[in-house]
Amino acid sequence: MKLYSTLDKKIVKIEPLSEGEISMYNCGPTVYFRMHVGNIRAYVNWDILHRAFLYLGYSVKRIMNITDVGHMSSTDDFGDDFGDEKMDIQAKKEGLEPLDIANKYIDTVLDDFRALNILAPNGQVIPSELTFMEVNKYGWSRATEYIDEMIEMIQKIEKNGYTYETKQALYFDVSKLEDYTIFTGQKLEEKEVGVRKEVGVDKEKRNPADFVLWMKKEGKYRDHIMNWDSPWGVGFPGWHIECSAMSTALLGEHFDIHTGGIDHIPVHHTNERAQNIGAYKHPVVKYWIHNEWIVSRGDIKLSKSKGTAPTLPEIIEAGFSPLDIRYLFASINYRTKVEFSLQALTGARRARLNLLKRIRELGTKSGNVIERYVEGFKNELENNLNMSGVFGLVNELLKSEYPKEDILATTYDIDRVLGLELENESTEEPLESGIEKLLNERERARERKDFVESDRIRDLIYREGYQVLDTPEGQRVEKINE
Ligand code: AMP
Ligand code: ZN
Repeated sequence: MKLYSTLDKKIVKIEPLSEGEISMYNCGPTVYFRMHVGNIRAYVNWDILHRAFLYLGYSVKRIMNITDVGHMSSTDDFGDDFGDEKMDIQAKKEGLEPLDIANKYIDTVLDDFRALNILAPNGQVIPSELTFMEVNKYGWSRATEYIDEMIEMIQKIEKNGYTYETKQALYFDVSKLEDYTIFTGQKLEEKEVGVRKEVGVDKEKRNPADFVLWMKKEGKYRDHIMNWDSPWGVGFPGWHIECSAMSTALLGEHFDIHTGGIDHIPVHHTNERAQNIGAYKHPVVKYWIHNEWIVSRGDIKLSKSKGTAPTLPEIIEAGFSPLDIRYLFASINYRTKVEFSLQALTGARRARLNLLKRIRELGTKSGNVIERYVEGFKNELENNLNMSGVFGLVNELLKSEYPKEDILATTYDIDRVLGLELENESTEEPLESGIEKLLNERERARERKDFVESDRIRDLIYREGYQVLDTPEGQRVEKINE
């Protein structure tokens, strides 16, 4: 297998620490809201990677964390620890205890994963009865269940001389680590400029890039709801320590692959790596792999709070199947930036239904897999998950002269990685009603003389395979013959 290693800045051959076995840690969800398309992209990508390793004959030990404490709303954008804590904000908003918020949203993660055909981190299909209560049996690890491990790890870091304490918090002193900014190559002074000035929060903090290992229930956080006892007083862990502590507790002091979105590179993973070295005197992780971003039109960051990032139920509500979105993300390499739009999703749906139709035309009898295609498929996977190559190969296979039942068997075999339910999904098209809806919208746009919108909708309809004609009797559609 070859993948793009962020630290090596190139595609490298993955050589696992122990032959034929992959240990992998995925930065998982912060469970204070329903996940959005951006998160879905990340999890579909890592699901494909997991399935690819299994297909290629590796055994996989994989962990995904669940952040249910300590994630400050400011950390993502600024690398600053002094925003409000996400669980805390949502708990107050919904009038629930933080742990109830976490439990509620863990269940929605399970619902979404099931619908998207994403395997549990331990590689099993997620049973319909699984709830938040037993997620740890399926490869998820909850931050609140690893507080002791976090404290132990922080103590190691402290003993090795990488920390200092103020009245507010225990910090990692980034100046103690020579290659702290190795991921970005920035100089520390440049990084400091990017960090928002934390006015008056902790005057004793030495360097803006220093980050919290343990936050005390003091000052701004004196009313924080979830707290634990620690050698540094009552309080709660910083966000980054959870991933370092849980990954090493569950996968050991050395493991192969750590994943996350590219947003994690400059802060979260930079800090995780620093903590690992701080505690163990070596970086722990062999390969850091990152998925690119999903953006809205014009490169706008998708954000749940700004309403630019739809959730799975919203996508279903708009008339799509969860597998349409899986198809969209499965067909794009994890390192390609994707602009999320109705058009892209509609295109994915068309392609998926078309694929199903062609498969049904082959009949129902399944024969033997065609070795040539299996080899070709493995090569595409091993080539940094070249998914456009995979779909090209499937296309070629479906057109090939091999016996129908063998083509079918091979397609189903490939679907062990794609996870598109090619064997069971119905080819039923809810397409007509979608067109109908668009036509109505277009009519309304024309009534208010919004011709830009009307043309945009015409293009959308065109992409669905229909041409709109404006006649004296109104709009008429004709199927485009391909
Ligand atoms: P969070 O729940 O915000 O901690 O995010 C969970 C995972 O989704 C992380 O690995 C993020 O990097 C990833 N993620 C969040 N937003 C996006 C996005 N717009 N595109 C791709 N990945 C994302
Ligand atoms: Zn993480």
